[in-house]
Amino acid sequence: PLVLGIETSCDETGIGIVRGTQLLANVIASSMDEHARYGGVVPEVAARAHLEALEPTITEAVQKAGIRLDELDAVAVTAGPGLAGALMVGVGAAKALAVALGKPLYGVNHLVGHVGADLLDADGGPGRDIDLPTIALLVSGGHTSLLHVRSLTDDVELLGETIDDAAGEAFDKVARVLGLPYPGGPQIDRVALDGDQKAIRFPRGLTLPKDMAKHRYDFSFSGLKTAVARWVEQREDAGEPVPVADVAASFREAVADVLLRKAIAACVDREVPRLLLGGGVVANARVRQLAQERADAAGITLRIPALSLCTDNGAMIAALAAQRIAAGHEPSTLDFGADSTLPVTDIQV
Ligand code: ATP
Ligand code: MG
Ligand code: FE
Repeated sequence: PLVLGIETSCDETGIGIVRGTQLLANVIASSMDEHARYGGVVPEVAARAHLEALEPTITEAVQKAGIRLDELDAVAVTAGPGLAGALMVGVGAAKALAVALGKPLYGVNHLVGHVGADLLDADGGPGRDIDLPTIALLVSGGHTSLLHVRSLTDDVELLGETIDDAAGEAFDKVARVLGLPYPGGPQIDRVALDGDQKAIRFPRGLTLPKDMAKHRYDFSFSGLKTAVARWVEQREDAGEPVPVADVAASFREAVADVLLRKAIAACVDREVPRLLLGGGVVANARVRQLAQERADAAGITLRIPALSLCTDNGAMIAALAAQRIAAGHEPSTLDFGADSTLPVTDIQV
């Protein structure tokens, strides 16, 4: 099926067009620059930016795909989870488009969409089936979630998630402590190049035996962020220079270590020899490297979609809806709303 997907759960206005698993267009307008001065995504600013970006982004995607809107088989949209106001803009636009075109509408889950990204080839090739079951680790500015995916369209289980900050959020906050601009992830990656990751032993949240008993697949990054801030403060109070590169490298190592330790544990426990990564933090060089090392050591096949498909985009939403259609699921009824806390088990609303 030919599907147009709309994604507005955070700061990216993403419009994607797919034919089944073939990517025809993936256009993204981001309001990231507008959030930079606040050091994080401001919900009202994001919602307004979506409103302004939606129409030109849809037009560009349709042109790039070389299709006409009346050729679409369906419209898809992220129904949740995400920022309520931002989601509402996308859901409203999707309903209007579907009604105007007389096409069915599929409201789908953002996190499951991140898994669906692996169906697509960023260069527009035919795409592929996702090897299932798989464990999926989704890490971004808003989420840190570990999933057990048995069927992309019908059976996704949440194993664990962050109990405080998301991993990307921790990168952004620690960058701030180090005087680096927003978004912090790429900055920390850059300065860490010259640092020693073993210089400072920062805490690994929820990895002690007593924590693993209760929170085996959950994450916590707020303690780590505080530990870094305190370490830097003590240096400054003592009038000593802060070794920014070492702090960045050591912090990055702590995040990567925890993420992969828990993801690999899930693969082993569930006897699933496959791990799929998604979300903006997957851009992190050390996360990618450690993922490959540990997956290889454990005999696990690692999948990392192209970065343009790892960060928020509309193509993954369209691809997930296309799979739902192929599996025979009915469209969503038009009375659904944006659900900022939509559970991952609700693959479609
Ligand atoms: P959502 O959580 O809804 O997916 P988001 O906008 O936070 O939304 P993304 O756009 O996928 O998610 O990711 C942005 C996050 O990824 C930011 O927190 C950013 O700092 C982080 N990030 C980007 N590049 C890197 C990197 N090289 N290393 C670590 N983190 C990174
Ligand atoms: Mg983003
Ligand atoms: Fe996302």
